[in-house]
Amino acid sequence: MEPSELLSRARSRSLDPADPLETLAAAITLSAELSRDTDALLDLAVREAREAGASWTVIGERFGFSKQAARKRFTPPFAGRHLANRRKKRDAACSFCRQTPGPRIQMVHGEAGRICGACVSLASDIVADLIKRR
Ligand SMILES: [Zn+2]
Repeated sequence: MEPSELLSRARSRSLDPADPLETLAAAITLSAELSRDTDALLDLAVREAREAGASWTVIGERFGFSKQAARKRFTPPFAGRHLANRRKKRDAACSFCRQTPGPRIQMVHGEAGRICGACVSLASDIVADLIKRR
């Protein structure tokens, strides 16, 4: 669609078509809608290509970017249970040593992260040393 046609469309949605700023506001809204539509179009076309057996390498080539970039851009965030589980596990890990929770791992949860028993103990030793040196 031609930009002038799009502008007419924005003007027809404007609260006050005589006011260029109102038309601009309508154009911004329309532009966001169109951008969502074109994203959805590409998602759909990529899904179709994947279902037809196209590799991420070939899909990436069509876009002019790498296989990794293509996969990252078009794979939904929680595509597989495996990926979701890995993320969940990572999100539950100790913020200091990345130890993941387990039956024998004690974890203290805070507002901004978690700390495992081993790190609590290590941190406690470090603080005790610092106090001793004063
Ligand atoms: Zn830890």
